[in-house]
Amino acid sequence: MPLRPQEAAGVGQSPPADAPGQAGERVFVGLGANLGDASATLADAVAALAALPGTQLVRGSSLYRSAPVDAFGPDFVNSVVELRTSLSPAELLAALQALEQAHGRQRPYRHAPRTLDLDLLLFGQRECITDALTLPHPRLHERAFVLQPLLEIAPEARHPRLGALAPCAAAAAAQAVVRLP
Ligand code: ADP
Ligand code: MG
Repeated sequence: MPLRPQEAAGVGQSPPADAPGQAGERVFVGLGANLGDASATLADAVAALAALPGTQLVRGSSLYRSAPVDAFGPDFVNSVVELRTSLSPAELLAALQALEQAHGRQRPYRHAPRTLDLDLLLFGQRECITDALTLPHPRLHERAFVLQPLLEIAPEARHPRLGALAPCAAAAAAQAVVRLP
């Protein structure tokens, strides 16, 4: 029986993310899969994220089912996890991409179905735009399959330019996203 993200080791047992003395930055990662056993893949990925060096899993959202947006194939299973990490953004992105590869991610064409997609959503309140990495994730504020799980675990989440993200979810409410039991 695969672990659901909120049941993964350490979830719910950590002190608040802004507790004094906690090292590293508060980071949110979006997970998605629409090939194979997507729920099991996400559970594996959450466990692997929790095991990254210098990284703690703070909490994980429920799983959500969503119709593909900017992608092809079957419905997606999505979730979001909050991490506390001392890795740099580039180091964490490299770790996410290595995990995608370990789960057989292929990129035969843009927006192809994926066994595992890991997106770096927020890295503290950092902003950056390079060829390899844009922070915050450029589409996070317009995607219900990101906003719903993100706001489930961090209702006060803020975007460095847009401010509170909760109002963005209302604007994206027409997108079909269902929280799984
Ligand atoms: P998408 O998730 O947008 O459907 P991919 O997962 O194939 O597409 O990612 C495409 C590229 O996006 C990656 O090569 C990665 O370097 C880049 N990228 C830029 N910003 C981010 C981010 N915040 N999180 C993840 N990937 C990012
Ligand atoms: Mg991606």
